[in-house]
Amino acid sequence: MKIRTRYAPSPTGRMHVGNLRTALYAYLIAKHEGGDYILRIEDTDQGRFVEGATEIIYDTLKGTGLIHDEGPDIGGPVGPYVQSDRVREGIYMKYAKELVEKGEAYYCFCDKERLESLAREVNGERIMTYDKHCLHLSKEEIEANLAAGKPFVIRQNNPSEGTTTFHDELYGDISVDNSELDDMVLIKSDGFPTYNFANVIDDHLMGITHVVRGAEYLSSSPKYNRLYEAFGWEIPKYIHCPTITNEEHKKLSKRSGHASYEDLIEAGFIPEAVVNFVALLGWSPTDNTEIFSLDELIHAFDYMHIAKNPAVFDMQKLRWMNSEYVKAMDEDKFYENALPYIKKVITKPLDLKRIAAMVKSRIEIYPDIPEMIDFFEELPEYSTDLYIHKKMKTTKENSLELLKEVMPILEGQEDWSNDALFETLKKFGEEKGYKTGYIMWPIRTALSGKQTTPAGATELLEVFGKEESLERLKKGIALLEA
Ligand code: GLU
Repeated sequence: MKIRTRYAPSPTGRMHVGNLRTALYAYLIAKHEGGDYILRIEDTDQGRFVEGATEIIYDTLKGTGLIHDEGPDIGGPVGPYVQSDRVREGIYMKYAKELVEKGEAYYCFCDKERLESLAREVNGERIMTYDKHCLHLSKEEIEANLAAGKPFVIRQNNPSEGTTTFHDELYGDISVDNSELDDMVLIKSDGFPTYNFANVIDDHLMGITHVVRGAEYLSSSPKYNRLYEAFGWEIPKYIHCPTITNEEHKKLSKRSGHASYEDLIEAGFIPEAVVNFVALLGWSPTDNTEIFSLDELIHAFDYMHIAKNPAVFDMQKLRWMNSEYVKAMDEDKFYENALPYIKKVITKPLDLKRIAAMVKSRIEIYPDIPEMIDFFEELPEYSTDLYIHKKMKTTKENSLELLKEVMPILEGQEDWSNDALFETLKKFGEEKGYKTGYIMWPIRTALSGKQTTPAGATELLEVFGKEESLERLKKGIALLEA
């Protein structure tokens, strides 16, 4: 049988990392077996709908390369793929009524006040367990209420005795006492289905073989199984993915910067790196490989290796992973991506491509760039303490001497290329008996005014050109003399 998985987001805003992980795992499970990956938009909670959120879903799937085989935008054999469209087709109501016929569900006309009176406080949370009041209405009473246009919901009729067991591929068999199964609402008073009902109907009608979703749905799964059984439908394989926490083992939040895919991209992360990182939030390969392209993930992904314990979102690790993707990136592509960050701080006509190449192996994310290269635009004010370097054996005094000695040589230098400059300075060092670092450290400091630079002295000389270089070296001398 062909594997079919679905990603079923609700259009409520940006794509949370947990949702992206679900999308990715569902995709990988299908593609690993050459199966189909379906996109279904779950917009039955009209109150939570956010304008533009469906576009975010499409953009994120495109940006991450999780390309669906069927969905609202491309159609497919089991559409429509948007739940509100399916409501209009009467799909959910038809199946809800079928359950009512079978005695597996019932109309409930209880108003807010009555339901409120059933609520009780458990551990600071208000819990409402329905008391099956409307299950006992006579046929006539129901007919009369419906004819009078009284608002109603349709509830699942769960037994209050015995147990229900369901099987999750990772968690194994889980049994719950039926007394814990609330008669959950299947159809709301606005005629829309709840997630709890729609997911079962749609997963069945869409031929979903593997249901991949967050562990927060684990506790509701017995109720879903009862629905499958009531219809006499085959139960899909369930794969519930572990929760994701931040480094402090708390819920991911926007404030700590790891809430959504879009937040991460805005923070300067590369889509491929985010996908790679998210794949490892709860799944690991049999060896210790960490860098995976999407194709490699498809090949390696075995869902039985998904962990059950919570996954920790380690921002440092994501930064490291991103730096690996930056290093491996093609030069031209990197230049294109880095350019906006370079132009934030450099307006002078310098060789920006060269500057991009300098930072490529040194940054973790694009926003690291400006701080690393701002000295190209303008020499910062700096302390002459920077000239002191133990290993290079430089002091303020000998740096001043060195710069003074080197000045006339550079003034006479015709070929201002990195190689030629390096040769000249090396020769100078050999004649004087100076080590390379002893010469380069003061030059580099005078050129940049910084402790660390993305390139060595002669490379900086080349990028600045002769005029600007000599000017900065003179400033260095003046500063050291003062
Ligand atoms: N619409 C649900 C959500 O966004 C989907 C859960 C599921 O995958 O079944 O959380």
